[in-house]
Amino acid sequence: MILAEPPPSQGDVHFRLWGIPVRIHPFFWLVALFMGIQGSGETPPLEVLVWIAALFLSILVHEMGHALVQRHFGGHPRVTLYGMGGLAACADCDRSTRSQILISLAGPCAGFLLALLLLLGISLLGHQSGCLLFRQPQVDAVGIRLLGTTFFWSPFQSQAANGMLQQLLYINLLWGAINLLPIYPLDGGQISRELCQLRHPRQGMILSLRISVVAAAAMVLVGLSWGSFLVILFFGYLSYSSYRALQAYQSSLW
Ligand SMILES: [Zn+2]
Repeated sequence: MILAEPPPSQGDVHFRLWGIPVRIHPFFWLVALFMGIQGSGETPPLEVLVWIAALFLSILVHEMGHALVQRHFGGHPRVTLYGMGGLAACADCDRSTRSQILISLAGPCAGFLLALLLLLGISLLGHQSGCLLFRQPQVDAVGIRLLGTTFFWSPFQSQAANGMLQQLLYINLLWGAINLLPIYPLDGGQISRELCQLRHPRQGMILSLRISVVAAAAMVLVGLSWGSFLVILFFGYLSYSSYRALQAYQSSLW
């Protein structure tokens, strides 16, 4: 996601990964903890820890995907994890359409690759695994169900290991797919803008913002059909913010 980066704080954690500087703002842990403690607040501490670890790893992999491709195109990126998710910022990156589209795609693709490696790893450890469309596995299995697809494996003895795998697969596959929707400020919104501007240099920005308003509103309807307050709120906000950006951009042209 591309939102404003928070200012440095005393609680920041710093390290480098493949030479790319990473900063973790304390709000990242706070929001992750808040999300992990569900409803009644009686979630077992181990489940909360597994969730925080899975979220941390998933967002880090996603942002590193962006950052490594930014560096490939000659930039000097830095990664920040904060309360709103993650950010791979790069002031000196190549601004060409091709580079920008590949940089945007790299985040979700890094998550998909991690999910694929996890499923391969489960098989290599001798556990039966697979994925089924619109069917449940016959064997005694654990897994996740996403958009009619079941990803399953014969369970590990450790509940924490099964929980970690479920969270990692869920976050990386679902968040990767959501991120590809043509909605600002998701990665798909950036790709949509680049493509629209390539075809219509003058009106491309307006077209991509209109697409963003409609696509986010359609996701609100999906949220209504799922009865998910979180989906409705998230996409309702993105549709509204795209609409405001569209109005601001149009008035700036006059
Ligand atoms: Zn991204």
